[in-house]
Amino acid sequence: MAIWIYAEHKNGQLKKVTLELLSEGRKLAGQLNEELAAVLIGKDVAALAATLGEYGADKVYLAENDALENYTTDGYTNVLAALAKEQQPAAILLGCTVQGRDLAAQVAQRLGTGLCTDCTGLELADGRLVFTRPIYAGKAFVKAAVPEARPAMATVRPNVLGVTAPQAGRSAEVIKADAQPGDIRQVIKDIVCQISTRPELTEADIIVSGGRGMKGPENYKLLDELADVLGAAVGASRAAVDAGWVPQSMQVGQTGKTVSPVLYIACGISGAIQHLAGMSSSKCIVAINKDPEANIFKVADYGVVGDLFEVVPLLTAEFKKMLD
Ligand code: FAD
Repeated sequence: MAIWIYAEHKNGQLKKVTLELLSEGRKLAGQLNEELAAVLIGKDVAALAATLGEYGADKVYLAENDALENYTTDGYTNVLAALAKEQQPAAILLGCTVQGRDLAAQVAQRLGTGLCTDCTGLELADGRLVFTRPIYAGKAFVKAAVPEARPAMATVRPNVLGVTAPQAGRSAEVIKADAQPGDIRQVIKDIVCQISTRPELTEADIIVSGGRGMKGPENYKLLDELADVLGAAVGASRAAVDAGWVPQSMQVGQTGKTVSPVLYIACGISGAIQHLAGMSSSKCIVAINKDPEANIFKVADYGVVGDLFEVVPLLTAEFKKMLD
């Protein structure tokens, strides 16, 4: 019984989380002596199958159809659920992205199976997949499994699993899958893209984030300057979003994006539990806050008690010197 990875892609590129899932899936499939398959859905996406093979897929189920050019809940659910019903995989893993969360919930419901969401680890115990997921906004971790129903499904947080090096020339068997999208109730009228040279928040290795302590939208340029030197993405707390200083797409936390960068620099953020829920799995947290009692210092690896309007420009200048 195979392990399946949902191959999420955007603008003709596989998302990094797809490569992370393939790398982890390859290890698990090897331990189980089962095959690893990727499911690739879209329009004119066949070229991505080569990369999926190099990163470990034994098979690629390719479902191409003009009506699948853009992601729709109905179209992609119909295709993935029908394929899973036909092929009966042991597990389906998706990225815990906006698309992955939406699709996983629909497909799990359609298949009548269990879904573990927002996982940060996968392992095998007695031949069964066991998922680690944070609870209580990251204060504790629980291990969960889908006991009987199959496939066991999970969404996995981007940036927590590593990517193994691709094997040049390794290829996957490409199987054309039934790509009938059925009735699609969603109508996509327009796609508005935000043009940015910065990495996407959920995939960034470094995030510089600002909260109410930024005092106003004009001061985010301080964070932009630091982010530009570090090649980082810029995030925000909900207080900053609610104040209308920055767009909601920048919000990190329980009702915003979940991020796991290598480095998260929190500037003028108090560390409310709802904010921590979205960033506490960052590998290294640096907090800059003028209140030594701020909650953020409880999760920070490094803390600077000070005025961000002094500290951030100093950091930018120092990093510039180091990186020039
Ligand atoms: P504050 O708590 O006001 O903290 C500002 C900090 O800036 C303070 O610690 C202060 O000491 C510091 N500061 C001020 N001036 C300076 C300076 N010059 N230099 C250095 N430090 C300075 N919040 C989120 O972030 N994300 C979410 O997804 C989210 N979801 C929520 C969902 C629900 C259902 C609810 C009820 C709340 C949610 N919240 C969320 C809101 C959350 O509870 C907090 O209100 C919010 O995170 C606070 O944002 P903040 O830390 O920027 O502001």
